[in-house]
Amino acid sequence: MPYKDQYAVFGHPINHSKSPRIHQLFAKQTQQQISYEAQEVPAASFESAIQQFFQQGGKGLNCTVPLKELAWQRAEQLSRRAKLSKAVNTLILQENGTLLGDNTDGIGLVTDLLNNHAIPLSDRRILILGAGGASRGILEPLLQQSPRHIVIANRTVEKAITLSHEFSHLGDIRGCGYDDLNNAQFDLILNATSASLTGELPPLGEHLLAEKGCCYDLAYGNQPTAFVLWGQAQKAEKSLDGLGMLVEQAAEAFYLWRGVRPETSAIIDLLNAERS
Ligand code: NDP
Repeated sequence: MPYKDQYAVFGHPINHSKSPRIHQLFAKQTQQQISYEAQEVPAASFESAIQQFFQQGGKGLNCTVPLKELAWQRAEQLSRRAKLSKAVNTLILQENGTLLGDNTDGIGLVTDLLNNHAIPLSDRRILILGAGGASRGILEPLLQQSPRHIVIANRTVEKAITLSHEFSHLGDIRGCGYDDLNNAQFDLILNATSASLTGELPPLGEHLLAEKGCCYDLAYGNQPTAFVLWGQAQKAEKSLDGLGMLVEQAAEAFYLWRGVRPETSAIIDLLNAERS
């Protein structure tokens, strides 16, 4: 059997991860000889698992919940976007043996919105629900698209305000609580809370979504999430989940590792067909 470069995703829990399937599809499409496996790694075992993986010839890693912050600390060098997001989802073994940390989540979201769904961002009023790691990772690439403004609403209000201050040099952005949204309206509402994972919904008023506005849940599942259903009930022009973002962030990681950019639309179509 020909030698295959080894890649993996570490996380906890990891058994439902679609990343191995996505990367195997990328490898087949681009004729790259790689293996990619999911490995159950709780935070306490992260350091030993990482050492073992790279000692045994691993070339690159994805890290997901709850390891992105640890990966950020572990990387010996950080890309600019990883520095800003304070989280790493992709580790790349460099020729000098050091680990470069990057974060491809934000570019994955923006690519999915713009290229796959033709949802414009320039001059749009954007509301982000949640102020955790995912919100932090998407702020810079969103602000680079020159939205009219971004509002971050979070259950713990202080976190939203602090996060907005960190990015205020990049555009018009503010943080608040859900009760402070009042009569504001938005062209795009992004759910970056983890509420969907337990079938919950942040407390949202009825008139938040502007006419022809769109909703996008970063979370995804085999069934529409509570937020996707909320968007449909609000008559959103599009109400989508984060499967496309998942594939696009993976494509960016694959490109960083292999120097080849996979064509994503056929793979998103295939994964959508498999879950319906
Ligand atoms: P974090 O744990 O860092 O942050 C969670 C956020 O959700 C916090 O702001 C928290 O508020 C809020 N929250 C949790 N439960 C509720 C609730 N019941 N009501 C209101 N707010 C709530 O998670 P991440 O930022 O890492 O992930 C967020 C989501 O993004 C997850 O669903 C994840 O799967 C998804 N994601 C998807 C990706 C993709 O490729 N599609 C990539 C990355 C993330 P508080 O601060 O008050 O606790």
